[in-house]
Amino acid sequence: MKDLHKWHVIDNGWNAPGYHFLIQLSGLIEKGRNVDFNGAHAKHGGWNKNTIGIAMAGGLGLSNRPEPIYTPEQWQSLDWLLAQLRAQYKNIDIFGHRDTGADKACPSFDVRHYVKTGKVRL
Ligand SMILES: [Zn+2]
Repeated sequence: MKDLHKWHVIDNGWNAPGYHFLIQLSGLIEKGRNVDFNGAHAKHGGWNKNTIGIAMAGGLGLSNRPEPIYTPEQWQSLDWLLAQLRAQYKNIDIFGHRDTGADKACPSFDVRHYVKTGKVRL
């Protein structure tokens, strides 16, 4: 989050980090932007509005190729966080940045498939 603060707030001049949550390799969940405010995580298609942005550190393999490489602690924290958000906001749709129509590979796995089956696939 310190890096994000530098990139987003200091370098970009934004008023807060672009994501609402960041899951560290250790599994630590850091809060970024307050969820009451629009994120700056998925501009293409207007998805910054009415969405909550969760970033996970990692997700890259050799030569920075997108691969779902995350620690067990991160998966555990992701599951926990999604359960919290589902309890708080009923009927939410959970999907990846790459599912918004943006030309992005992140988060290097099929989020809808993961949410449905608990299984990770590219
Ligand atoms: Zn992304």
